[in-house]
Amino acid sequence: MATDKKEEEKPVKRVKTPETLRGMKDILPDEQIYWEYFRRKAREISAAYSFGRIDMPILEDEKLFVRTVGKQTDIVEKEMYNFIDKGESKVALRPEATASVARAYINHGMLNLPQPVKLWYMGPMFRYDRPQSGRYRQFHQYGLEVIGGPDSVVDAQLILIAVRLFEDLGLKVKVEINSIGTATTRQEYKIELIAYARKHRKELCEDCTRRLSRNPLRLLDCKQDACRVIMKDAPQIIDWLDEDSKQHFMQLIEYLDEISVPYVLNPHLVRGLDYYNRTVFEVVPDRGDDADLGSQSALAAGGRYDGLVEQMGGREETAAVGLAVGIERAILEMKQQDVEPPALPRPDIFFAQIGAEARRAALQHFEDVRAAGFHVVEAFGKSSLKGQLEAANKENARFTVILGQLEVQDNTIIVRDMESGAQETIPMEQMIDYLKKEMGRK
Ligand code: AMP
Repeated sequence: MATDKKEEEKPVKRVKTPETLRGMKDILPDEQIYWEYFRRKAREISAAYSFGRIDMPILEDEKLFVRTVGKQTDIVEKEMYNFIDKGESKVALRPEATASVARAYINHGMLNLPQPVKLWYMGPMFRYDRPQSGRYRQFHQYGLEVIGGPDSVVDAQLILIAVRLFEDLGLKVKVEINSIGTATTRQEYKIELIAYARKHRKELCEDCTRRLSRNPLRLLDCKQDACRVIMKDAPQIIDWLDEDSKQHFMQLIEYLDEISVPYVLNPHLVRGLDYYNRTVFEVVPDRGDDADLGSQSALAAGGRYDGLVEQMGGREETAAVGLAVGIERAILEMKQQDVEPPALPRPDIFFAQIGAEARRAALQHFEDVRAAGFHVVEAFGKSSLKGQLEAANKENARFTVILGQLEVQDNTIIVRDMESGAQETIPMEQMIDYLKKEMGRK
């Protein structure tokens, strides 16, 4: 029977593999060495300065951010990943963590603990921003919050911790600081700033024209050249500070001088979020005076938010200050400044096997070696000894133990010293003691 040729030929099914969403990325094993290094340093410094870890949900009530970060901020207005869930609640993937930490502080009655309460967190944040190098839609922050401490000594110590962390990571950084006073003084200042910017309206970028009416402080940290030139001569917020904020700032500077933290006063430094007051700071790479750092340069940013807890229904006058480090930015900077994270510890033993029978037996022996406290690795998926020895060399294992068919029959195992190349066959029941002795362990 003649068949239609077209019917015979099965159409090739092309399955399009899904990609990660724009601005989001996988962190592959090779990259993890940087992440692990960062996490370890962050954990160590948090413990050294007595911060307790807190993990908050990634998904929160949208109101938490709208009310605190501010309706007219870029984060809430343009960048929030918000949606209505199956129970008709308006929820959002957190764009930042300070509001969540403050919520948790109130929810769990932490005001009854000795103050200030010192908390740290680490995890993903989400902002629907325009992706570019150093700016992603899912990124990670390590953050510290000190709630219930009004004195500027707290600000100084937090800045010190940030500098220490980057030093520990092997990075050269500098700190820029400013004070943005109180909500009232900021209001007065904004009027001046708007009046000044209006005079130059035609020269401002599109974003700044919008910011002029919605979030004028952001005019000051616009990265566009034309706006920067205009803003250079803008009135400075520092001249509008109330007496108490001025005192607070002077004290901060004295503390920083006292502990020899190098800082630069940056009168244009403001934070985009509504809840900040008084101290604001950023940590930027120090690549020499003339280096062009580009627009995504800040490695970390922070500041005081004395009104936030009260505004969220917590106790009045709960002063607080916090800091968030961008982990991707810190890692990019490690690469930029040629910082090599220390290699992962080399394994003690590589477990090789030859033949089906040996492979079966090796599974259990491997467990015994591991249970004896050795760092042991394997490539059970490989069958040739050559391939396994190559893997052992790549892993830089100190010893390789080899189990072949003959050894299984004789109940022995070969132990090979990977440095000298010498090898010895020993009874299986002596393997652990032999390895312990060779490695100088008890
Ligand atoms: P912010 O929460 O905006 O004060 O940011 C604190 C730090 O987080 C910044 O200094 C950056 O290092 C990092 N960061 C903020 N937004 C992003 C982003 N979209 N992608 C990567 N890192 C970011």
